[in-house]
This record gives sequence, C-alpha cells and structure tokens, in this order.
Amino acid sequence: ASGSHLIRATLFPGDGIGPEIAESVKQVFKAADVPIEWEEHYVGQEVDPRTQSFLTWESLESVRRNKVGLKGPMATPIGKGHRSLNLTLRKELNLYANVRPCYSLPGYKTRYDDVNLITIRENTEGEYSGLEHQVVRGVVESLKIITRQASLRVAEYAFHYAKTHGRDRVSAIHKANIMQKTDGLFLKCCREVAEKYPEIKYEEVVIDNCCMMLVKNPALFDVLVMPNLYGDIISDLCAGLIGGLGLTPSCNIGEGGIALAEAVHGSAPDIAGKNLANPTALMLSAVTMLRHLELHDKADRIQNAILNTIAEGKYRTADLGGSSSTTDFTKAIIDHL
Ligand code: NAD
Repeated sequence: ASGSHLIRATLFPGDGIGPEIAESVKQVFKAADVPIEWEEHYVGQEVDPRTQSFLTWESLESVRRNKVGLKGPMATPIGKGHRSLNLTLRKELNLYANVRPCYSLPGYKTRYDDVNLITIRENTEGEYSGLEHQVVRGVVESLKIITRQASLRVAEYAFHYAKTHGRDRVSAIHKANIMQKTDGLFLKCCREVAEKYPEIKYEEVVIDNCCMMLVKNPALFDVLVMPNLYGDIISDLCAGLIGGLGLTPSCNIGEGGIALAEAVHGSAPDIAGKNLANPTALMLSAVTMLRHLELHDKADRIQNAILNTIAEGKYRTADLGGSSSTTDFTKAIIDHL
C-alpha cells in the first residue's frame, strides 16, 4: 500500500498472550495489503484519574476518534480504587451490543459441522446492572433493569445486521412467561423493530427451549438477539459448539458507530511468552472489523487463508491438537493468502 486512503484503527495488544497474537494479526494484515494503519495503545502502569482505570484517557480518545479498533485480552490488575479494564471500555465507549459470529470450521471436527449463527447480546443492562443489596439478614435482592431505549437499540442492530449480512431470520431469546415485565418489554421492542423489516423473519424462543434446540441441532438458528445474562451464557454455549474460545471472534458495537473487535478468551497466563498461543480468535475478530469497514474482499481473503490452514491440518497450535508455534501457524496463514 502506498499510504493513500489508509484507515486508522486503534490496537490494544493487551496482556499475556495478547502481544504475541496481535503481532500475528499485524503480519497477516500487512501480507494481505489491508489498508489499515494501527494506532497502538498499551494498558498503563498506573491508574489514570480521568478514567479511574489503567486505561488512559488517550486510549479511549483514540477509539472514539478512529471509531474502529481491535482489542487483545486484558488482565485487570488486582487492587482497590480502580475500575476493571473491560468495564471501563464498555461504559466509556457505550458498547451496547456484543456480536459473535459462530460457524463450524471446515476440517476441525466437532460434534456438528453445520453451525452458522450469530449471537447478539445486549451489553449494558439487564441482570448485570450491578444493583444488588441485602434486604434483611438472609435475604438479598438483585435488580434486573430493562429499558425501552437499550432494547430498541440492540434489536435495531440485530435486524440491521441480518439485513446487511444476507441473513433471513432473527430469533429473540427470552423468558417472558416468567419475567413478564422485563423480558416482556424486551420482546415488545423486538416486535416493534421487526415490523420495520418485513423481509426478515422474526420469531421468539424461550431460553430453556433455545438451549435444548442449540445442542440438538444448532443449524435451526440464524441470528439470535437477547438480554445481557442470556447472551453471556448462550454465546459461550455456541462457542463450545464450534471448538472453544480459542476460535471464537467477537465485536462490540458502541454508540456513534464504534466497533471494537476482540477475542473472547483471556490473557492465558499459563502459556504467555512461549510462542504457543492460537491467534485464530483475534484474527477472526480482526476480520469482523474489516467487515464492519465493508472491506469484504480483504476479509474473505484472510478468513479463507485461516480456515484453509486449519483445514489442511499441517500447522495447528496445541489447543487444536497440533504442535505448531504461534509464529509457524501465522506463517502458514500468510502462505495461504
Ligand atoms: P483464559 O481464556 O486466559 O485461559 C483459559 C485456558 O484457555 C487456558 O488454559 C489458556 O491457556 C487457554 N487459552 C485461552 N486462549 C488461548 C489461545 N488463544 N490459544 C491457546 N490457548 C488459549 O482464561 P482465564 O485463565 O480465566 O483468564 C486469564 C486472565 O484473562 C484473567 O486475568 C482474566 O481476567 C482475563 N480475561 C480477560 C478477558 C478479556 O480481556 N476480554 C476475557 C477473559 C479473561
């Protein structure tokens, strides 16, 4: 690339295996001539009073300015007087939807070979509002907050996603038969948005039934949208269907069109610095970022190179039963480009 029309994107390599797998992404993007210029930000060594966390104000400003970014795993240092890194990002950037594409990887055998679904989780309220207290000794109370505004926003995103990604069905996952007011409002908002998208089929599935259907036949689902807690659980269940957290990408959508892609796994301190980590999840997360930028040609090319490398089976990292190092696996992907 000659420097013209470069898109600036924020990169948080993160902690533990983060810098190793971020390096893989940078190398593959370079080899595929992706027109992205990374603005690298590391988590600070001390608490920034402006964010009350180890993330600096400048880092947050970088994402706000660029509107796209890629984040490696971050390990929140233990101690008092600061906010968790992931919570800071979610709150400060208003990351309201967590999107996880989940599809079977050809050649990597799991119980199913036809998973192809997207989970979209409301990320700001519900059971995770953090409002818990003791009423009297032996009795505690936790508040589940559902608002019309947040429900409409995530439903709108789900239908928009379905429409722009050639998907034809959205399933709202709920327990409105018991949680009549909260999940009831969530469903009402989904129905309202569904009316604006007559070309997308809309259905409602009770969460317990959804779990049974997912493990029996995941091909029954297309796009799933749900409140926070259900989304947390169902999205990990779906990751398990295709082979685990080392393979699953995700992208967080924020207010004002921000997209912050991230792998769903943690910093894997047990293998950090040993050149053993599987960079697939972060790389596929970077691919979701490219799709958000509508760089579909580059996204397809990189995704195919990753899938072909795994399918070929010659170079796989230890978590997939192979013996390749991070760098050898990365090189194999570049050879497949
Ligand atoms: P983890 O995901 O880091 O590790 C769980 C297991 O999976 C480990 O055995 C690890 O080696 C393996 N693993 C994870 N990613 C892998 C990869 N890419 N390639 C190969 N193997 C991989 O979970 P944990 O041990 O519970 O958490 C470690 C740290 O990460 C904690 O500080 C936690 O707070 C943090 N964390 C951060 C995020 C995030 O930033 N989004 C998410 C989860 C955990």
